[in-house]
Amino acid sequence: MSSGVGERVGFVLTTVVFDADETVLDLRPAVTGGLVAVLDEMRRRTSAAAGVTLAELESDWGAVFGELKAAPVAEIRRAALARSLARAELVDHLDEIADLFFAHRFALTRPFPDVPSALATLRGRYTLGFATNGNSRAERCGLAGEFAFELYAHENGLPKKPAPEFYAAVVAAAGVPAEQIVYVGDSWEHDVVAPRRAGLRSVWLNRLGLPRPPGCTPDAEVSNMADLPAALAELGVDAVGV
Ligand SMILES: [Mg+2]
Repeated sequence: MSSGVGERVGFVLTTVVFDADETVLDLRPAVTGGLVAVLDEMRRRTSAAAGVTLAELESDWGAVFGELKAAPVAEIRRAALARSLARAELVDHLDEIADLFFAHRFALTRPFPDVPSALATLRGRYTLGFATNGNSRAERCGLAGEFAFELYAHENGLPKKPAPEFYAAVVAAAGVPAEQIVYVGDSWEHDVVAPRRAGLRSVWLNRLGLPRPPGCTPDAEVSNMADLPAALAELGVDAVGV
């Protein structure tokens, strides 16, 4: 259907909603920094931690994630840390060590360098939202005041992606029809396949240059956030143009 605006044909796009971790937030260095602080503290407390390695602490997340993947991220992290502390008989100190980890993890979590200017550009054209499975609260990660709405799985009973209820909550928060919303994220399953199934548009942020999986086609694909404004302009007639 024609947009009725000049020569352009596209759909009306009013709202852009972002995944958090590895999309707008460079989480990996923050998690590694948190685990380095944990390992330092373990070694300070007991010589039994002398042989424990950072690689072992990093592997503990993967070891517990499978059976806890529906749980809140903080709970999964505590289970991973408990496993790490058990390596040096320090499990009784889980509460303090978890506090230490999260203090470092949040202090070190920052947007990717290409994010602030992209958000500034997009804000003039669209309503911006933030919707995550994780616990990267915008205000604790250098993104205070950037979004018109924020959704966090497990708050108010919100199930995690890829549950359809998650995207329904995004649509409700946006207050516009699903087809006017584009979801932007790095996860093929959570940020491309499931949003499209729920009637939203999707942009795959493929920072790593991964091959595109079969079975679904995102509305657009970008390799960095700086390319997003042009990709969205190409995709639809934004609200300003209607
Ligand atoms: Mg992500």
